[in-house]
Amino acid sequence: MTDLILEPLEILIHRFFVAYSGDVYLQGDYPWTANSLGLIHLTDGFGEPRLEDLYPEFLERNYLQKAISLERAQDSVTNAFSQKKLVTLEELIACFNFHYINDGFLSFLNPYCLICGLGQPKPSRDEDGLPSWEICDCCGAKAGIDDNDIHEIRIRRKEWLDGGAKWFKPRNKVLHWSPNEQLKNIPPEWL
Ligand SMILES: [Zn+2]
Repeated sequence: MTDLILEPLEILIHRFFVAYSGDVYLQGDYPWTANSLGLIHLTDGFGEPRLEDLYPEFLERNYLQKAISLERAQDSVTNAFSQKKLVTLEELIACFNFHYINDGFLSFLNPYCLICGLGQPKPSRDEDGLPSWEICDCCGAKAGIDDNDIHEIRIRRKEWLDGGAKWFKPRNKVLHWSPNEQLKNIPPEWL
């Protein structure tokens, strides 16, 4: 097994493209930032023990969680990015998140905060329509409290924009962030 290597997400991205088998672990909660630490665990793909089995305390101590299985995601990630010359950090993170979700960890009804448009780790509602009660890292809105109807959503969004579109959790602010770009994620019926 390769030695454990812990490195910032930006550096990890470069390693990502040469890794063919393994898992990526990222620090903290989505959305990850360039300052988050990442770790790639390369394997030979033949039933090597999982890192969470080998070093559970290490992962816990460093707030590392598995983001994606490179092995399974390789083709779709390569396909997604081969059409572009440059891949932004946001796109890569979105792709990580896409696979994270599609690996069956989460069901995903509405991936974006209806107030600010930030991608969310959990759907705002489950299949039965029950709120997640999650607080958005960007605008600070709470699912189930601030997003119950279009009227409420518009008021909350205006307050957030009038207040300078500040991040509720500034340390999770993404690189080259633009509130206007992010707002485009919101389906038109919620604008
Ligand atoms: Zn939000």
